[in-house]
Amino acid sequence: MSFDEALETSKIYSIVGKLPAKTPLISSRPFRAPHHTITDAGLIGGGTIPRPGEVSMAHNGVLFLDELPEFKKHVLEVLRQPLEAGDVTITRANQSMNFPSRFILVVASNPCPCGYYGDKVRECNCTPAQIQRYSSKVSGPLLDRIDLHLEVGAVAFKDMNDGRKGESSKVIKNRVDKSRKIQENRYKMSKRIFCNAQMTTAEIDTYCALDPASLRLLEKSVEKLGLSARAYHRILKIARTIADMDNKENLALSHVAEAVQYRRNG
Ligand SMILES: [Zn+2]
Repeated sequence: MSFDEALETSKIYSIVGKLPAKTPLISSRPFRAPHHTITDAGLIGGGTIPRPGEVSMAHNGVLFLDELPEFKKHVLEVLRQPLEAGDVTITRANQSMNFPSRFILVVASNPCPCGYYGDKVRECNCTPAQIQRYSSKVSGPLLDRIDLHLEVGAVAFKDMNDGRKGESSKVIKNRVDKSRKIQENRYKMSKRIFCNAQMTTAEIDTYCALDPASLRLLEKSVEKLGLSARAYHRILKIARTIADMDNKENLALSHVAEAVQYRRNG
């Protein structure tokens, strides 16, 4: 984290009394993974004397929700405000507190209660009604705020030990750092934002200009997939990041096509 980010995150840990005695300044990004039995006060913050919740403990880091449909529906719905605004306001009878909560939300979910719907080998035992009930626990508006949707199939045994090595985390981190640097430089003048995710509509217009072919593709995708205006802007931000990873100043058709592809299930 930058020094300013480290200060912000450390303040929150100090308020909840979780600042490690030997580490007065938290300098690495927090990773929070609350259990699905968490209450809305635990997630978003609350109490007679308002205390920050998990969304603020994850500020400048990652909030990971495993088995998303297992969370209570009303608990998931309270995520919408911090995801949109980057902060939360907790109002009590005699006071109102505002805590920062800008985090990367990562969620995982099975396709159905038994976990095998769509599996190539094992059979799913769920009824269509069960599958429907399971997936409907996560609302459209929440899914709409998730930019990258990926389906990951089960790994066959022979693939688990075929000796192939993937890219190391170090190599991937270098690529991410490089792309972050490009973004920092781009927004240096604004002094307000430092990465693509924080672009406003005006900034999207400036930095995500499309050529005619990309514009046509996006137009077709919006119609075909029934995408919201929010999803449209989010696709452009993702395309901007893909172009940055590619070290290209202008968005190309391939960047937009890849960004749209991540929206398929959304
Ligand atoms: Zn199933």
